[in-house]
Amino acid sequence: MSTDPTMTSSPVFGDLQRRGLMMVLSSPSGAGKTTISRKLLEADTAIDLSVSVTTRPMREGEVDGRDYFFVDKVDFNLMVNRDQLLEHAKAFDNYYGTPRKAVEDTLAQGRDVLFDIEWQGTQQLAEKVRDDLVSIFILPPDWHELERRLLTRAQDDPAEINRRMAKASDEMSHWAEYDYVIINRNLESSVQAILSILHSERLKRRRLTGLSDFVKGLQAGA
Ligand code: 5GP
Repeated sequence: MSTDPTMTSSPVFGDLQRRGLMMVLSSPSGAGKTTISRKLLEADTAIDLSVSVTTRPMREGEVDGRDYFFVDKVDFNLMVNRDQLLEHAKAFDNYYGTPRKAVEDTLAQGRDVLFDIEWQGTQQLAEKVRDDLVSIFILPPDWHELERRLLTRAQDDPAEINRRMAKASDEMSHWAEYDYVIINRNLESSVQAILSILHSERLKRRRLTGLSDFVKGLQAGA
C-alpha cells in the first residue's frame, strides 16, 4: 500500500484519498478530558493534538510548546489581529486560542487533529469548518466525582478550584451542542468509545475524497 499520508491505507479502502477531520473534546474542568486525550493520542497514530496558545500562567509540570504555547496578552492580541488563530476565547479570565497554521498543515497531510477546547471555541469551529468537525462533550459520572478530581489534581489554589466548580455547571449547559456525549465512568471504556467514533467518522463518505475517482475507474472497467 502507499505511504502517501493523505491516503487511507486501510484494508477496506486501500489507498483511497481521504480528508482529515477535526475532533473536539470539551468538558467541565475535572471530567477527565486531559487523560482521555493523552490515551487517544497513544492509541491512534493518525491524529495529532492541536497545541493552543494561552495567556494563563504555566502550571507545575507543564511544558511550553507541549501543553500550551504560553504567551502574554500583547502577543495573543497580535495573533488575533493577524488572523493567526482559527478560534479563540476567554475562559477563567485567561485567553486561549488555536494556532491556525499547524491545524491546516496537519489536515493537508490527511491526518486528523484533536482539540481540547471549550464550548465557545467549538461554536466558532462549527461555524467555520462544520463539515470537518466531530465534537464530543465529556461529562463526569456525578458531581462529587468532579469535585474529587479537581481537589486531587490540586494544581490550582483553593479559590481557583471553587471558581471552577461554580463554572462547571455553566460549561455543562452546552452539552446538547455537541455531536456526541460521553459519560466518563471508566477511563478505558470512554477511550474505546471515542476511538469507535473516530474510526467511524473517518469512513464518512464525504471524507473519502478519492471515492468518486474510484467509482469512475470501476465504471470505465479499470
Ligand atoms: P486549562 O487552563 O485548565 O488548561 O483550560 C481551561 C479551559 O480552556 C479548558 O476547558 C480547555 O479545554 C480550554 N482551552 C484550552 N485551549 C483552548 C483553545 O485553544 N481555545 C479554546 N476556545 N479553549 C481552550
